[in-house]
Formats: sequence, C-alpha cells, structure tokens
Amino acid sequence: MAAEIDVAIIGAGVTGLATASEIAQLKRQVFVFEKNRTFGLETSSRNSEVIHAGIYYPENSLKAKLCVEGKNLLYELCSKHNIAHKQLGKIIVATDKNETAQLEKLYEQGRRNGVEDLMLLSQAEVKKLEPNVEAKAGLLSPSSGILDSRTLLKYLYNQAREKGAEFVFNTEVIGIEMAGAKYKLQIKDRDGISDAIAHVVVNCAGLNSDKVAQLAGIDIGKAGYKLHYCKGEYFGLSSKYRNVVSRLIYPTPEQAGHGIHVTMGLDGRVRLGPNALYVKAIDYGVDDTHKETFYSSTKRFLPHIELEDLAPEFAGIRPKLQGPGDSFRDFVIAHEDKAGFPGLINLVGIESPGLTAAPAIARYVGRMVRGLCD
Ligand SMILES: Cc1cc2nc3c(=O)[nH]c(=O)nc-3n(C[C@H](O)[C@H](O)[C@H](O)COP(=O)(O)OP(=O)(O)OC[C@H]3O[C@@H](n4cnc5c(N)ncnc54)[C@H](O)[C@@H]3O)c2cc1C
Repeated sequence: MAAEIDVAIIGAGVTGLATASEIAQLKRQVFVFEKNRTFGLETSSRNSEVIHAGIYYPENSLKAKLCVEGKNLLYELCSKHNIAHKQLGKIIVATDKNETAQLEKLYEQGRRNGVEDLMLLSQAEVKKLEPNVEAKAGLLSPSSGILDSRTLLKYLYNQAREKGAEFVFNTEVIGIEMAGAKYKLQIKDRDGISDAIAHVVVNCAGLNSDKVAQLAGIDIGKAGYKLHYCKGEYFGLSSKYRNVVSRLIYPTPEQAGHGIHVTMGLDGRVRLGPNALYVKAIDYGVDDTHKETFYSSTKRFLPHIELEDLAPEFAGIRPKLQGPGDSFRDFVIAHEDKAGFPGLINLVGIESPGLTAAPAIARYVGRMVRGLCD
C-alpha cells in the first residue's frame, strides 16, 4: 500500500523549504520531494542574492506585497539566526532625461507599495554617495541589501527538519492523480517508481512548476501557466574593483529584468548582471561573447571599468510567465479548488523577487493549507 501523508511539497528550493517549515509547524505531516541530490541546487542558488525593497511591481500585486513583507521577515530572520547579510542600500541611476522621468515613476510606485524610505537624488548627491558612479540623477533605496543565500537555504532546511518535515532527495514526482479527496503521486527514485498518497499537494517546482501543474490535470494553456525561460548571465569584475561602489547600483529597469546591474558579494567582490535572454532549454553556460554588451551597458554609469576586467561567472534561469513583449505578470499562488482540484496549490512563475519574498510566500501558502486542514 502507498504511504499516506498530509502535505506533499514538490521542490526544495527556497520556496519549498520555507513552505515546509511553515506547514510543519501547523503540526501537519510534511514530505518534500526533490529530484536533485539535495536542496537549493537550481534557481535559488543562481541569482543576485539581493534583498529587494519592493519598488518595481504594480501596487497590490503579490510581487509587491510579498516582497515588502518578505524583506522585513528576511532581515529579522538573518539578524536573529546569524545569516550573513548587509543592508547596504541601492541606487537606481538615470543616465539621461528619459531615465530621470522613469526614476520619478519608480519613486511613486515604490511609495504606493509601502517602500517609504526612497529618496530621489540629484547628480551631485549621487556623486557624493558613490564617487565612482556617473549619473544624471538617482533613486536611493536604503532598505535594499544582500545576503548569503546558501546559508539561508541551509537554515530553512534545518528549521523545516527540526519542525518535523521529511525530505526525500533524488526523487522526482512524475505523476499526480486525483484519488477521491486525496492525490496519488507517482514518484521515481533510484529503486524505480512508487506511489504516495497526499491530502494536500504544494507545487514549488520552480522551472518545472508549469509541467507539474499539468501533471495534476490543470490545462496550463487555459490557466495562463505556461512558463518562458529567461536566462540571466553574470560577469565578475577583477578584484581591483573590490569596493568600487558601496551600494548596489542598478540602471533603470528593462522589460524582462532589472537591467544589468552592479552587485556585490558580502566580501566586497563586484559582479555585473544579470542580462535577460529568452531561451528554449536550461543551459547554465555563460557566453563569453556577451562580455562586450555587459561592458558597454555598465560603462555608462561606471566609466572606469575596462573590458579585460570582466570574466564570465555563472548563470541562472528565470521561470517567467511573461513572454517576450508581454506586459507584467504576477506570481501565481493558487489553490485550485475552482478548477476542480481541491487541495492542490500551485506556485508558478516564482521569479524575482522570489528569494526576498520566500518567507512571506510561505506564510501565504501556510494560510491556504490551514484552511484546508482545519
Ligand atoms: C538570474 C536571476 C537573478 C535573481 N535575483 C534575485 C534576487 O537578487 N533577489 C530575489 O529576491 N530573487 C532573485 N531571483 C529569483 C529567485 O532566485 C527565485 O524566485 C527563487 O529562487 C525561486 O525559488 P523556488 O524554490 O521557487 O525555485 P527553485 O530554486 O528552482 O526550486 C525548485 C525545485 O523544484 C525541484 N523540482 C522541479 N520539478 C520537480 C519534480 N517533478 N519532482 C521533484 N522536484 C522537482 C527542482 O529540482 C528545484 O530544486 C533571481 C532569479 C534569477 C534567475
């Protein structure tokens, strides 16, 4: 007979880990199925490690609300549990008049989202804060920061386990079938294929979350869940640029990403990226021929850098609901009862600011699960 559990979570990235911890504390029996050998090997460890303030997203969107809430929870959690982080602040820079107008819009957008500490900066004020940066104007976001995502993932994993969640690695969910008021999961591991029965299924499968929703019977075309992969590559700047800036420096945003920006590791090492390239397949290689584009877009606001000081580092892939040329798409965090799947919760399109929002996403899903199990 198949094992029977209260809640099955599919995927052990940052959202699956945070959600496991949140649900386990409701005294539910939680199993997390992860196809890789351990947690956090995909998008959750291939990103900028930025704690976002919540500026960019439309008011009342899940991205805006969960980013602002997640940021506060994340700073609290990092301080309390010694997870390395730094609230160094960020400046979005404008290099011409059009971009200056965009900064004002971002300022208003951020204020509407509850980011109350934003400040518009003149050219001289940017220069005073960041002498190596060239800009016509800036938008300072004091609550933006960076964190050590690996330590965060490890902390969330340990916390979930301490609260009783079980992790099953090297195990891929390959089928989901409704069985009365429960779900029969078909799982594939080294020993072959077996079944597990779950009352609630939470799909935190990142780049595969549309396919997992489809496995359960959701018409992903009709639901608008089809994901587009959007690759983001990073180039490192040589160590002579260590601490060339004291804050994160972002250009005004592009359509598919935040624009190639300047981030810093907690050790002061400077990194450029990510770009935003729609791709068909998952491939984490960095194309060295893109170096020129990184160089020219960054040189606009960091004029002292030289082409030979850039070296390819790594890449991540965004699970985007927004295809090329499409308008804004929000996170999907949906209990699918209206679609005829009570007890199935899909998280689809958890791209940036998913790392920042993870603790708030977990609470949001926790409230859904509590309603289902009470
Ligand atoms: C280039 C880039 C930069 C970013 N920068 C930032 C940033 O600075 N700040 C920020 O807040 N956010 C950022 N993000 C977004 C953030 O990284 C993601 O939103 C977050 O990591 C998503 O976590 P996740 O757990 O949903 O997905 P993942 O980390 O991808 O985890 C999903 C897991 O599900 C598993 N899985 C999939 N299918 C199955 C299956 N069938 N059976 C079992 N397991 C399965 C996978 O193996 C994987 O481990 C960035 C993203 C990218 C790509």
